[in-house]
Amino acid sequence: MELNKLTIEQARQGLNKREFTSREITQSCLAQIKKVDKKLQAFLTVTEPQALAQAEAADKKIVAGQAEALTGIPLAIKDAILVQDVRATAGSKILDNYIAPYNATVIEKLAAQGSVLLGKTNLDEFAMGSSTENSGYFPTKNPWDTTRVPGGSSGGSAVAVAADMCIGSLGSDTASSTRQPASFCGVIGLKPTYGRVSRYGLIAMTSSLDQIGPISKTVMDNAILFQAIAGHDRHDATSVKIENIELKNIARDIKGLKIGVPQEYFIDGMDEEVKTLVQQAIKKFSALGAKVTEVSLPLTKYALAVYQLMATSEISSNLARYDGIRYGFSVADSRQPTDYSLMDIYRKSKAKGLGAEAKRRIILGTFALSAGYYDQYYVQAQKLRVLISQEFADIFKKVDCLVSPTAPSVAFKLGEKFADPLMMYLSDIYTVPANIGGICAISIPCGFDQGLPVGLQIMAKPFAEEVMFRAAYNYEQATTWQIKKPAI
Ligand code: GLN
Repeated sequence: MELNKLTIEQARQGLNKREFTSREITQSCLAQIKKVDKKLQAFLTVTEPQALAQAEAADKKIVAGQAEALTGIPLAIKDAILVQDVRATAGSKILDNYIAPYNATVIEKLAAQGSVLLGKTNLDEFAMGSSTENSGYFPTKNPWDTTRVPGGSSGGSAVAVAADMCIGSLGSDTASSTRQPASFCGVIGLKPTYGRVSRYGLIAMTSSLDQIGPISKTVMDNAILFQAIAGHDRHDATSVKIENIELKNIARDIKGLKIGVPQEYFIDGMDEEVKTLVQQAIKKFSALGAKVTEVSLPLTKYALAVYQLMATSEISSNLARYDGIRYGFSVADSRQPTDYSLMDIYRKSKAKGLGAEAKRRIILGTFALSAGYYDQYYVQAQKLRVLISQEFADIFKKVDCLVSPTAPSVAFKLGEKFADPLMMYLSDIYTVPANIGGICAISIPCGFDQGLPVGLQIMAKPFAEEVMFRAAYNYEQATTWQIKKPAI
């Protein structure tokens, strides 16, 4: 087997038994990137020399008997997460020349274990989008069908995993961005509970919703990555002190586990085949001994509207820092500063550096926060947000997990929704409630529709990642979807 195709668990075993070295796995991933990434365009930056040096250091660590779970494992990182001395664009031309001055906390944690970083992956500009077509650079292609989108915003990280250009990756999820691309690419994507993973060094989109999460080939790999990056961080005041998960609990069976199926997640307009596959998956949970019941979450219908207000409001404030003075691209760089007034620098740098979606959201958010409209929009959204969290809290008194589709459809065609932002926003309909409610959720493969992967979403209450992983793991062990690979 080619080494780039290994899972984290398989790579760990082989490395520990000295069947191969980290250098060999790393070279195999780099060779795959060279072979397929011209076509798929998952990477914005490949850090080959650093990766090979990290692999050599990892091999020494392994020989010294100091291997940890991720020592020597080659990973890809969404380009919204800072890796010291490496370019970090967040998919935006406004950060084209920005070199990260420090490591994100998640990167510090991976580095401390001696994992290998292959490079930075493509995303929708500042993580705004559901198709990776909003990248300021190029759209990433879906490896199952290169005329289709990989989902977004962490499209590059999902494709890097699906096409075996890495062993695992990190994305971030504000409304869908690890789960929906995982669903479109046939891999596993996690949105951890808000506060479980430090956001320090994640370029902010919607700070009150953003979470970094792993994308992987198997559920256990996802849990291993999550365990490595989770934990309280004094650099992130919203990160929470709570015990980490234990991997052995994930492999326990699910007899008697209570699973709820929210009826609001099976709506008109969703793909019939997606619906059928998810219903089959639900039957599988029953067969595995879970107690499945239908439940109702009536506030679900407001989640997307609440998100649009929360997100655009926070975006308008978070993106104010890209002003042509403090970070990245500035029209003043190529001229004498005196050629421009300060106002000119602001206006022209933003006009040139930011894409259409970023501008659209800045304008909408500025409007929603403006005097006279603030109470009518932002405050209303905040109130609903509390009610949605409460609705989840109530339902999780009755069930351990909720199961639903991840997205209403399979991967759509490149360009199909690009000109219609409202259609694009609808892709997040099933994933956004978990962010609004601050709960955890994962997407795992549950079948194929016309040769394209379909994702199943499993949600659990805040900080109940262990039970969520357990449900996902048991389903995965009882099915074979993840074995099928795209032909590229
Ligand atoms: N698709 C959503 C958006 O466009 C969410 C993106 C994300 O989760 N980062 O905002």
